[in-house]
Amino acid sequence: MKTVRCYYCGSGNSSFYAAENGFQLVKCDGCGLLFVKDRPDDDQISQAHRQGRHAGEKELDVTGRYSPGRVRTYRKVLQDLYGGDMGHIRTWLDVGCGHGEFMLAVQRYASGNIEVTGTEPNVHKQASARARGLNVGYFDLETHGVHYDAISLLNVYSHLPDPPRFLENLIKLLNPGGELIVQTGDTADFSASEHYRPFSLPDHLSFASQAIVVGILERLGFQVIHIRKYPYVRLELGSMLKETVKALLPHFSSRLRYYLNWKKYSEADMFIRARLRN
Ligand SMILES: [Zn+2]
Repeated sequence: MKTVRCYYCGSGNSSFYAAENGFQLVKCDGCGLLFVKDRPDDDQISQAHRQGRHAGEKELDVTGRYSPGRVRTYRKVLQDLYGGDMGHIRTWLDVGCGHGEFMLAVQRYASGNIEVTGTEPNVHKQASARARGLNVGYFDLETHGVHYDAISLLNVYSHLPDPPRFLENLIKLLNPGGELIVQTGDTADFSASEHYRPFSLPDHLSFASQAIVVGILERLGFQVIHIRKYPYVRLELGSMLKETVKALLPHFSSRLRYYLNWKKYSEADMFIRARLRN
């Protein structure tokens, strides 16, 4: 275990926010970032991600499964972010590509004109993405040495022990004028009772806000081009019925309360498109 300071403003002062799975989430007194201050050391974190499982009071299984609905959702997001104008992008790297839904969305949205590569530490997800014909492996980004026109990180940010340092290293893999797509929650300003659960600690190590992620990108020399926000839960009848059934059954955690407070969570999911200034 080790203790860290806020990675955004550097403050060592924080207040208790919530506890889960034997870990504590604190709120930075300086900038409002939510983060796990006392955490497993980096070796334990990377081992855990490779296996898709984490040691805590209760073991979390974070492998999940492939979702065709997610491919459709991501194509709509790409339309919102690019408006059909992706001609300047030839190569794309998706970091933490999971089962490959976003890679498939990029391939299809660009009509096969973009060569998409994925890296994924979880061996089960790697196999699932490869079974769909995707070019997925797991490589060390620091020694990778290949350059891309665009790099995406979806559902990755909250897992990173030090997002500013990670994003700074990614710049070395971008071509001049290259782009980043960062997706994460805009939830640091929610009160602890409002914040969606579970936090999935210590799989997730921080929860940021739009101001924090934009601030990090600008410090690193990126120009933010588009920010698009989406609901934490989507208004689809099938999912709503499923969550209603789960709410009635013991031993299931249901997202029903997010549907009941839909407006509050309607902008909790954030995609940022940023371009490296030359
Ligand atoms: Zn801070």
